[in-house]
Amino acid sequence: MSERYLNYIGGKWVEPSTGDYYENRNPANWDEVIGEFPRSAKDDVDQAVAAAKKAYKDWRLVPAPMRGLILRRIGELMVEHKEELAKDMTREMGKVIKETRGDVQESIDTAFYAEGESRRLFAPHVPSELPNKTGYTMRVPIGVAGLIAPWNFPSAIPAWKMFPAIVSGNTVVIKPATDTPYTVYKMVQLMIEAGLPPGVVNIVFGSGTKVGIPIVEHKDTNVISFTGSVDVGRDIAERGGKYLKKVSLELGGKNAVMIMDDANSELALDGVIWGAFGTTGQRCTATSRLLLHENIHDKFLEMLIDKVKNLRLGDGLIESNDVGPLINEKQVKTVHNYVEIGKSEGAKLLIGGEPTTEGDLSKGWFYKPTVFSDVTQDMRIFQEEIFGPVLSVVKFANFEEGLQILNNCEYGLSSSIYTENLLYAMQAARDFETGIVYVNAPTIGAECHFPFGGFKNTGNGHREGGWTVYEIFTEWKTIYIEYSGKLQRAQIDNV
Ligand code: NAD
Repeated sequence: MSERYLNYIGGKWVEPSTGDYYENRNPANWDEVIGEFPRSAKDDVDQAVAAAKKAYKDWRLVPAPMRGLILRRIGELMVEHKEELAKDMTREMGKVIKETRGDVQESIDTAFYAEGESRRLFAPHVPSELPNKTGYTMRVPIGVAGLIAPWNFPSAIPAWKMFPAIVSGNTVVIKPATDTPYTVYKMVQLMIEAGLPPGVVNIVFGSGTKVGIPIVEHKDTNVISFTGSVDVGRDIAERGGKYLKKVSLELGGKNAVMIMDDANSELALDGVIWGAFGTTGQRCTATSRLLLHENIHDKFLEMLIDKVKNLRLGDGLIESNDVGPLINEKQVKTVHNYVEIGKSEGAKLLIGGEPTTEGDLSKGWFYKPTVFSDVTQDMRIFQEEIFGPVLSVVKFANFEEGLQILNNCEYGLSSSIYTENLLYAMQAARDFETGIVYVNAPTIGAECHFPFGGFKNTGNGHREGGWTVYEIFTEWKTIYIEYSGKLQRAQIDNV
């Protein structure tokens, strides 16, 4: 029998109240069971939130720089265990090992950045309008943070949420995605080893409905941070709204690269391949629309197809492989359904377009890298997030038309322009309706100390990463101090 893993609540590893477990399997080889994880329920969430609430009383009073030292230790432990974490992540999630190393590295960077931020957490001191009176501000933690993560960045996204929440003085209850529980399990082990007191971090495994919803609706979770799909994000916003909770949503993307006719085409080609087929297209920032200037359209497509032909699909643990499997069978069906839709809408399938079980791929959820040309703006494959290795190519005649096409989208996460022309680059930076714009680089590649998030349906205005994530996990407090020794009435005595 495979190993069983438990929830971590109030400093103890505990069985789920249901006594029920599910298997977590390797998407590159479904015979391999990574482990059995709890199918928890509301009772487990209740216990975890109670433990977090209890721990909050003391944790909020630990000086932030002292909390930061524990974050530094977490980062150091992750450095020591980087290779092992990356390999295990590839086994449970599928993406190739160089990418899972990057995923772990982003968590390490986030831990070290959190330590740095623990010595800042700046809050302005501003002059009062009255004499002998002053005002200053402070940031305070919010309480218990409910964190709900997706599977595509099994380590980095939980780190983006847990580390700033904890260093700000909150305690957390995290629910990992059902497809990637093991990575978070291992991270929590290291967080305990680093010295986090009991109850500061709690982990409850299980489904969105049985665990996610109770976290969102619990009266004692004071802030919710969610990353995932738009539909679930909307549901969470509605439920959280009833309790007037602070809810941060990081949702989907339909990211485009625009290539002008003056671009360095080799550079652009490398960027498109990496953006579209890295993580098998399962990134919120994946390149899924490619806008090609009409002067270079045919030539660039030829170069692109040549490269796509040579991408090596396979087990991500083999260093020479470029593209791993999709996360699960459902995702294979979703991707294939979109390919069928694209064909029926009249787009031209240039390469790929089907799952594959050839040779070594017979036991995994592999899908051939796929490119459609002749895509138009009304097509569903142009508009909807596919979350797989499918690239839709559209032709444009000039910058203005390209801009219109790029912005014709319900999402607004990431975008990119390849050009040698400063005027176009600057206009793109200003006018692309996305939270992140790259110039001469692919749509992926966020760094942990910059704000991350998007416009439109990509979210509700918050930004993870950088200093902006601390807005999510802290409240502002304003303190007025009167030292005139008399009643001074603002707006009355001073006019
Ligand atoms: P998902 O929305 O299906 O699930 C995300 C998490 O929410 C999982 O842990 C799931 O169990 C939980 N969940 C599901 N239903 C729930 C509910 N009703 N209430 C509470 N929790 C619930 O998304 P996914 O398939 O895991 O991830 C893919 C999506 O995530 C894509 O749309 C992708 O673009 C998006 N994503 C966005 C970002 C970003 O930062 N903007 C980053 C990565 C992924």
